[in-house]
Amino acid sequence: MLQHEVVVVGAGLAGQRAALAAVEAGRDVAIVSKLHPLRSHSGAAQGGINAAVGAEDSVDTHIYDTVKGSDYLGDQDAIEFFCREAGPTVIEMEHFGTIFSRGADGSLARRAFGGAGFPRTIYAADRTGLALLQGLWERLGTERFALYEETELVRLVVRDGRVQGLIALDRRRGEFEEIAAKAVVLATGPAGRIYGRTTNAHSCTGDGLAAAYDVGAFLKDMEFVQFHPTALLESSILITEGARGEGGYLKNAAGERFMSKYAPHVVELASRDVVSRAIVTEVKEGRGLAGPYGGYVHLELMHLGKEKVESRLQEICDYSRHFAGIDPVTQPIPVYPAQHYMMGGIGTNIRGETNLAGLYAAGEAACVSIHGANRLGGNSLLETLVFGKQAGIAAAAYAAAAPRPEMHATDLETAVAPLRAWSGRTEGEDPSALRTEMQETMDRYVGIYRNEADLLEGLQRIRRLRERFERVRVVDRSTVYNLNLTDAIETGNMLELAEVIVVGAYARLESRGAHSRTDYPKRDDARWMRHTMAARGPEGPTLSYSPVAYTRWEPKERVY
Ligand SMILES: Cc1cc2nc3c(=O)[nH]c(=O)nc-3n(C[C@H](O)[C@H](O)[C@H](O)COP(=O)(O)OP(=O)(O)OC[C@H]3O[C@@H](n4cnc5c(N)ncnc54)[C@H](O)[C@@H]3O)c2cc1C
Repeated sequence: MLQHEVVVVGAGLAGQRAALAAVEAGRDVAIVSKLHPLRSHSGAAQGGINAAVGAEDSVDTHIYDTVKGSDYLGDQDAIEFFCREAGPTVIEMEHFGTIFSRGADGSLARRAFGGAGFPRTIYAADRTGLALLQGLWERLGTERFALYEETELVRLVVRDGRVQGLIALDRRRGEFEEIAAKAVVLATGPAGRIYGRTTNAHSCTGDGLAAAYDVGAFLKDMEFVQFHPTALLESSILITEGARGEGGYLKNAAGERFMSKYAPHVVELASRDVVSRAIVTEVKEGRGLAGPYGGYVHLELMHLGKEKVESRLQEICDYSRHFAGIDPVTQPIPVYPAQHYMMGGIGTNIRGETNLAGLYAAGEAACVSIHGANRLGGNSLLETLVFGKQAGIAAAAYAAAAPRPEMHATDLETAVAPLRAWSGRTEGEDPSALRTEMQETMDRYVGIYRNEADLLEGLQRIRRLRERFERVRVVDRSTVYNLNLTDAIETGNMLELAEVIVVGAYARLESRGAHSRTDYPKRDDARWMRHTMAARGPEGPTLSYSPVAYTRWEPKERVY
């Protein structure tokens, strides 16, 4: 059996930052990651990272923008802490070796992002995530911790309300590992593949959320799912908000800049929920363009000129040319919203602590909550670093005083027996077919606009898929990279989370941020200014609610 003091699951920005903090605190640290660290989804982040640096901007404006962006569901104490840490965090990343884009005077270049009162998004062209990930990876130094890559968390082991370690599958050999740990930090990233139309990588299957939920951790605010307004039609590859930040226009079929009707003050730079709803409304009401992949609108960059488009938005040029066959220097980009981010996640405080002793979470897998009902672009990269560090510090301090972890011989068997049963079947359900049906269900019934009838239909469909999953069959018996097996594990995880999302959305009788109910179109602060907490019960998720923390900002109507 392997054993470490602190085991970090996930090697994206949140996981690496947590590991660095725990290493610096002198603990014996391991990272378990199903991908090579540099292939984590953090590396796909394009647009940038927010920090109020420089005299013209202020931390208070960043706090206010984030509170307003969250539609007053974000915890204000956590948001204050988060925004204060932003400047030092970005400067630290610079010192770690991240090369950010610069202005003519040599200072950090900043671009405008949606919902922000000041252009405060710092960037490295349109590959900010990769630049951060590489800088951090080099700083972390592979000799200072143990790395189990291509190793997939299957189950956490919890005894007496305390984490003892985990069971993971080494995908290269097809063998299961027992890893005892005093503290576990879950930094497993997004869960966007629950939806079909998503900007998230194929690996973003919410495994850490499902693992935490299975052993009794709360999932918080899972009904709040962010749709990014501009994904490339058909492939749903992200076209960064930076494209609008640099001055791009959104136009309907008649060539109108329709956002002026929905957000007269900031037009294309309203927050994401607002812009996504506007695009869907234009298409639904017949003012969109139509094609074989459904309705869409145009994102125009042509007026910015070849020099600016090709230097500031290099990847956007590549993606548009390769995946849509159009050149954004001379042609409009066809776009439509796609799932992009989960505001919800494993419930934590600002130290990354969950309701289970020794279990921590950070990054997109966690819900602190700073994004509330809607995340502002550029705040998520920042979140991974700010709260990754906090979780690493807290896990290290806990591990220094925690007793030896207690793993039993039966722990491995308990985790692995169901998976063996899947491979032993001669007939049963194909996991990839179940996954596709789940994605279609979520796209159709639990999307941008929601209502009671659709959510009920969605819930029934997801529950039927979960029943069918009981009979899932893994046909491939090979041990080396058995993707049929990992697909089954991940589909099971996503079905579990899909149910939590729909149950939360069905129960929340209001519209707030990204949760838009056509049957309850108004925000209802008296009844619903509270966090949804989902726990695993015998009949599916059971919901309870917890209060939102206030400091200085009274809820107001949110207009852009
Ligand atoms: C296309 C795209 C562009 C974005 N652009 C921006 C942007 O410009 N600005 C911004 O602020 N935010 C952006 N975001 C959001 C932001 O990038 C993510 O929220 C953030 O990077 C997530 O980091 P993370 O460390 O939590 O997870 P990730 O970087 O996704 O890392 C997750 C890690 O967990 C591991 N893992 C997952 N499951 C398991 C398992 N079962 N066992 C073992 N390991 C596992 C993976 O191997 C991986 O190493 C973007 C997101 C996308 C999808």
